[in-house]
Amino acid sequence: MTQLPYFQQFIPDTEAMCAFGAKLVNALEQTETSKATVFYLNGDLGAGKTTLSRGIIQALGHQGNVKSPTYTLVEEYHLTTKTVYHFDLYRLSDPEELEFMGIRDYFTTPCLCLIEWSEKGKGLLNPADLIIEIHYQDNARNIILTPQSEIGEQIIAKLV
Ligand code: ADP
Ligand code: MG
Repeated sequence: MTQLPYFQQFIPDTEAMCAFGAKLVNALEQTETSKATVFYLNGDLGAGKTTLSRGIIQALGHQGNVKSPTYTLVEEYHLTTKTVYHFDLYRLSDPEELEFMGIRDYFTTPCLCLIEWSEKGKGLLNPADLIIEIHYQDNARNIILTPQSEIGEQIIAKLV
């Protein structure tokens, strides 16, 4: 599979980041999935990974706050159409913690897993369907999507 970015989008502000989350949800909802869908959200601190996650989780019907799972490692949202597990592994000191929390079980249902700082859980996480990179561009951001599976490709195809 090609590693070239298939999709790129300029994100001028926070609202546009949330709106892009809604667009991803729309594409995801048109895609048949029978297992967990996994998005890795990559980007420096403050790039907007949690902001995009908030856009996604709220577009799936969650009302109210989306807390950063920095201290809890995972926050879960049981929504009408999907369960979302939102991970932030930034503070993970020992990958064994993931074993303790039963990380494999999170990937066994047809849920959506959003994973910030996935590199900290290398080898213990399911591979991504879609890698979402967020790059700073002055005060704005640039998003690059790279599919890692057929599901990822189908989602991107529905965005364009
Ligand atoms: P991360 O989870 O990547 O560390 P956050 O989403 O927690 O980042 O924080 C991003 C911060 O940057 C928020 O305060 C958000 O309002 C701000 N911001 C400014 N411009 C943008 C933009 N274009 N896209 C996303 N966030 C932005
Ligand atoms: Mg974050």
